[in-house]
Amino acid sequence: SPPSAPPGTLSEAGRALLRQAAEEAGVALSDSQQEAFAQLYRRLLAGSAQMNLTALHDERDIVLKHFVDSLGCLAAGDWPAGASVLDLGTGAGFPALPLAIVRPQLRITALDATAKKVAFVARTAEELGLPVTGLAGRAEEIGRDPEHRGRYDVVVTRAVAALPVLAELALPLLKLGGTLVAQKAQLSQEEREAGLRAAAQVGGELASEWSGSLPVLSDPRSLIVLRKVAQTPETYPRRTGIPNKRPLG
Ligand code: SAM
Repeated sequence: SPPSAPPGTLSEAGRALLRQAAEEAGVALSDSQQEAFAQLYRRLLAGSAQMNLTALHDERDIVLKHFVDSLGCLAAGDWPAGASVLDLGTGAGFPALPLAIVRPQLRITALDATAKKVAFVARTAEELGLPVTGLAGRAEEIGRDPEHRGRYDVVVTRAVAALPVLAELALPLLKLGGTLVAQKAQLSQEEREAGLRAAAQVGGELASEWSGSLPVLSDPRSLIVLRKVAQTPETYPRRTGIPNKRPLG
């Protein structure tokens, strides 16, 4: 980038990479969406200077592994305009913020246990005019809160936990007929089977699966979509920490 560019400016090469890789992922970015990603990039670098937000600091990595990878969830599941979506374990806002840039008709809640990260996500969404609301808390507790239990059309999640844990945390939050879209780098046969057994215990079943790769880098990526077909028993989710410690399945 030119020497006069302020720190945190997405370079021309970074913008071109974003455009090309998003297109490879099936998303054609408008000029204003590209601009929104450039602003997100700036906020992310500024936020990272103040707190531990993300392990990625290189422009190419942020573009591909955060921005473009976050759009990967659109390859499976249902994303109708107006749908209420909860991003479980959003961290610095992934996939919530990129998703909101390309699908501004979604109503997205970004949940994380770390309040500082949620504050960053909420502030960034407000500054960028994105339809994302922050929610600080543990999915184990939010899943028992009547304000959230059974309220979402889609729960999306990237890099948070093994599939049996995700099933227990996400299914209680879904409306009947709603879907969990779990983004995974790779899903072993063992994790997949345990996940499906866990899903059956919390009212879910397999809806669809997708496997492919991250544009440009070609790293393997898979999506597994579970649909809520029955009410989740009141005993789930179990209390904080138990889903991880003694996973269903
Ligand atoms: N989804 C983001 C991404 O792909 O960049 C962040 C991934 S980070 C590895 C996992 C995040 O999940 C952390 O920020 C952690 O606080 C959050 N998390 C894990 N278990 C959680 C739970 N039970 N309830 C709420 N947040 C949780």
